[in-house]
Amino acid sequence: MWSKYKERDYLNKCHNLLILGGTFDPIHMGHLAIAKAAYLQLKPQRVLFIPSGQSPHKRDKQITGASHRYNMTAFAVCEHPAFDISRIEINRQGPSYTIDTARNLRKICPAGAKIRFLIGDDALQKILSWKDAEELLKDFEFVTVPRPGYEKCDASDKSISDFVDYLGTTYNARIHRLSGPLLNISSTDIRKRLTAGQTVHGLIPKPVEVYAKQHGLYAAADVVAIDYTADSPASGKFCFEAAQEELRIRLSPERYAHSMGVISTAEKLAAHYGQDAEKTRIAALLHDCAKEYSADKKRALCQLWGIQLDEALESNIEVAHSLLGAESAKRDFHIYDTSIQQAIRYHTTGYIGMTILDKIIMLADYIEPNRSNWGPIKEMRRLALTDINQALIIRIEYNISKEKQAGRPIHPWSLDTLKELTYNS
Ligand code: ATP
Ligand code: MG
Repeated sequence: MWSKYKERDYLNKCHNLLILGGTFDPIHMGHLAIAKAAYLQLKPQRVLFIPSGQSPHKRDKQITGASHRYNMTAFAVCEHPAFDISRIEINRQGPSYTIDTARNLRKICPAGAKIRFLIGDDALQKILSWKDAEELLKDFEFVTVPRPGYEKCDASDKSISDFVDYLGTTYNARIHRLSGPLLNISSTDIRKRLTAGQTVHGLIPKPVEVYAKQHGLYAAADVVAIDYTADSPASGKFCFEAAQEELRIRLSPERYAHSMGVISTAEKLAAHYGQDAEKTRIAALLHDCAKEYSADKKRALCQLWGIQLDEALESNIEVAHSLLGAESAKRDFHIYDTSIQQAIRYHTTGYIGMTILDKIIMLADYIEPNRSNWGPIKEMRRLALTDINQALIIRIEYNISKEKQAGRPIHPWSLDTLKELTYNS
């Protein structure tokens, strides 16, 4: 349903990856619960859900088409800021073997990146039957979670922990065991329930249920209407240090350093232009919080959160990270102050009637100290404290010329902003 993007567009900066592979036919709360538990305990930069293409273990079974399983997975995971999805297996010809994915990811992620696989105890029990299991166990770490009904190894009546010890001594496997959560949910059961017209409430995310019903997967049940744009911010409080720590884990080191640079630059500009220091710090911290999402995750979130994609955003979805960042600031970080949201929303394109705070964040994004001396940056830095409008005019003109060179449409908001700033200066 969405754009073609390359895995390397967003995984090449991921230094700590936790992978949850599966058939996801359909994805359910058990998958999400183990991913959340592992995320909280192990703090990877990203949890990557990889729907399988052809599953070698389920060859004799009827499996829902890969694009439907992928789309359902995208809807289920996209709202968690640290979760993302990958097409790496559904794009590959032939059966999906984990070892091939592992080798691929090792090439895509930065050298030395930590790559771990999260699996349930049912999958662990079968691991020696996986392709090149010895290499996989030797070269990659595993994280396992218990699963009700799989406390003992099928064939041997051995306990799972004995089996883990055996894998450690025999294959040098590094296996980290999580103690929970224990959720007796399976896709098999959900398929049966849907086919029988029974409720799956609480077992799969609502958008997955709606998608399955709308596409007639599993059963031809009634279509349920759902308002994806419903705005129901969970109550919660913003804590700067906690948000900063979350971003430190979730963003690439380069992006995190950039955000810190934007904070220090924006703070100086705010002091100079008499702006609220706290609001400035928050907007600067969060301005790129959605930047490193994959293109498909950005599209899925725009759909779920009711963000309209105009022609320019449609052809360059990356620009939508500012709009998504503003929405994430509200939904994920409990920022309900609209002036902060606005500064995040327009920091890439600009907008007619920008406030000083909007201008500070937009300019700080471009002149913070980690930016190398590209283009007219020296001139922008020189003008920052004397003529912020002129500094922004230079920046927007530069951007427009770059976009033109790349053959991409210019966002109309940028053209409007340029006109307004030029008129006023
Ligand atoms: P099916 O019933 O079709 O086999 P499933 O519920 O087992 O589906 P999969 O997509 O096969 O889901 O599982 C992907 C991964 O998630 C596997 O490693 C599996 O062990 C793990 N997993 C799935 N459900 C749970 C659960 N409830 N608890 C722990 N691990 C789970
Ligand atoms: Mg299974």
